[in-house]
Amino acid sequence: MSTRDRYLEALGVDVWKSRGRRAPPLEAAAIGALDAPPTLNAPATVPLAAPAAEESSWEALRAQVGVCTRCELSQTRTQTVFGVGNRRAEVMVIGEAPGADEDRQGEPFVGRAGQLLNSMLRAMGHARETVYIANVLKCRPPGNREPRPTEVACCLPYLQQQVDMIQPRLMVAVGRVAAQNLLGTDTPLARLRGLVHRFGTRATPLIVTYHPAYLLRSPTEKRKTWVDLKFIRAELARARSGA
Ligand code: URA
Repeated sequence: MSTRDRYLEALGVDVWKSRGRRAPPLEAAAIGALDAPPTLNAPATVPLAAPAAEESSWEALRAQVGVCTRCELSQTRTQTVFGVGNRRAEVMVIGEAPGADEDRQGEPFVGRAGQLLNSMLRAMGHARETVYIANVLKCRPPGNREPRPTEVACCLPYLQQQVDMIQPRLMVAVGRVAAQNLLGTDTPLARLRGLVHRFGTRATPLIVTYHPAYLLRSPTEKRKTWVDLKFIRAELARARSGA
């Protein structure tokens, strides 16, 4: 099986096989072949542990978030969902808000959408534990409704501080709600994809792709996600090379 097929399979995209002289389907032709196989796990140059002073400000932030009452979501949450992953990650993945599973377990993307997110990360060449995963909101909106602007305004400074401490090379916003709130825009997701945006005070490069929960509902969009993941890989390679 080719590298492309292996990663399409990891994403759950049916791999089309030519039998004889029929032309390949358009999407397969449009996706094209991968230039180089992705490297799994963090590059050896990324240290996995943070120095003690940084660690204590990180833990102070975590503690502050843990008792946050800035908005009314503090009254309905089971617990806050701070984020998970490598404090030295070169990639931060940002979703919308915790769902029921995340609210229960205190970790982002642990449900079915999380499984698919893990496959998307593998397709980018990263294991889940090598990136940092967080959400725009740290608390679950009741009934999984969309975050309200006031809630985002209360919560985003926490994420900005996490970004300042991690200093990722690249942020990946998954889904329309995350993307629009991070970028302060109401531009549709389709027009935000395929571009390098900038987030926050450090002007961190940010790329937008589909939310895994949306892909579970609309599996035919997975092929477009594959295009996004290749774009992310290419941007990351460019950022690493300092170009
Ligand atoms: N959807 C999100 O956007 N974030 C999660 O943590 C889980 C589901």
